[in-house]
Amino acid sequence: MTASADVVVVGGGIAGGALATVLARAGLDVVVLERQTVYRDKVRGEVFLPWGAAEARTLGLEQVLLDAGGGYATRLGRFEEWIPPEEAESQAIPLDRLLPGVPGSLNVGHPQACEALVRAAEAAGARVVRGVGEVTLGAHDRTSVVYELDDLDHEIRCRLVVGADGRRSGIRRQAGIDLEESAPASMAGGMLVDAPAWPAHLNATGTERDVYCLVFPRPAGMVRVYLLWSLDQGGRFTGPERQREFLAACRLRSLPHTDAITSATPAGPCSSYPMTDSWCDRITDDGVVLVGDAAGWNDPVIGQGVSIALRDARMVSEVLLGSSSWSAAAFAGYAEERAERMRRLRAAAHVATVLRVAFGPEAAARRRRWFDLAAADPKVLAPLLAALVGPDRVGAEAFTNDVAERVLSA
Ligand SMILES: Cc1cc2nc3c(=O)[nH]c(=O)nc-3n(C[C@H](O)[C@H](O)[C@H](O)COP(=O)(O)OP(=O)(O)OC[C@H]3O[C@@H](n4cnc5c(N)ncnc54)[C@H](O)[C@@H]3O)c2cc1C
Repeated sequence: MTASADVVVVGGGIAGGALATVLARAGLDVVVLERQTVYRDKVRGEVFLPWGAAEARTLGLEQVLLDAGGGYATRLGRFEEWIPPEEAESQAIPLDRLLPGVPGSLNVGHPQACEALVRAAEAAGARVVRGVGEVTLGAHDRTSVVYELDDLDHEIRCRLVVGADGRRSGIRRQAGIDLEESAPASMAGGMLVDAPAWPAHLNATGTERDVYCLVFPRPAGMVRVYLLWSLDQGGRFTGPERQREFLAACRLRSLPHTDAITSATPAGPCSSYPMTDSWCDRITDDGVVLVGDAAGWNDPVIGQGVSIALRDARMVSEVLLGSSSWSAAAFAGYAEERAERMRRLRAAAHVATVLRVAFGPEAAARRRRWFDLAAADPKVLAPLLAALVGPDRVGAEAFTNDVAERVLSA
């Protein structure tokens, strides 16, 4: 069976669902091929930091994400071992004042966001095929794909294939695009909890004992909690008691409202991953362009993945809607912008890991010196500020070795 379309998007995650919606709304004939029939909680990104929330708004997707159960958190508390929790809370960063018109970070469940985005794409006229098996790029040219569904092969001829199929992208592999992955910098585990006593406006991050803890609430009392720890404790939270052990590890003296988390009810799986960074030698090929994690990901320590995915969707949609040529050369601006964006975010993630996912008295003393240094010279905050306002809104000098050295040798 052969069909045709302008664009085939392989992967209906954040990047693919967003791009398909924008293109279908503009009148392109779009097909989305998605492997999952029901999106599962895989402990993935659920926080569109202010620059990602701004991207959602620019793409016309903010309401889709809010209707998917999302909500804005307006404060980011940074708790520190030497600061009383109430004081840390009163000094929280006002996320609602960082970018004009953006009310904070948009926190939404990952499976819910994916579901809402592919439904929005469908409502705009895209054809969404779920439960596909193997997807193969055309054997003779790149302007067709063959996918398996119910033991049958289906072919779609198209002008462009978008690889939005996540970290282990098969489209990337078939297009012959190489991915480099860094050695893991740390380990991270996460769990969704029902914690109605946690304040819905407050994101919180901080290091104590042997964990870096991040807390992201969303409406109706649901809270996503992440813990990061050092590689030498790799196998934490993997046994049958992992949910209970995970919550117990969140009992931190410096974390405000810590009881709200430790007494919470698990509401999803507790899974852990090594934290790596990755990049590709190129992100386009004839008839193919990559977006989101398929094009290389940032170490999730600074929570950038879903914002990156939306920026990719915007950049690619601008090429497709603004130019009649969809050759690999037409995507040169996107490729260049993405390479620099990811380079900056890689530098920011490195600084965050060295500062935050480091334990013991020496690491705590360095954090404290860095805190004082940042109060005197805001430039040292710039790499971390980039994660909130976007890497392009902070001067390139923030990502030089010089700044990194000053931060890291604090
Ligand atoms: C532990 C952890 C915590 C994170 N926390 C954050 C955070 O707080 N904030 C943040 O911004 N980012 C975070 N991220 C990163 C974020 O989850 C990803 O960067 C983001 O989901 C990437 O979106 P995507 O659309 O590229 O990929 P995905 O969301 O992975 O979507 C890919 C889609 O492609 C589908 N697919 C795969 N293969 C095929 C195939 N062959 N055929 C058809 N469909 C296919 C998959 O089923 C999936 O639906 C985190 C990641 C991890 C691992």
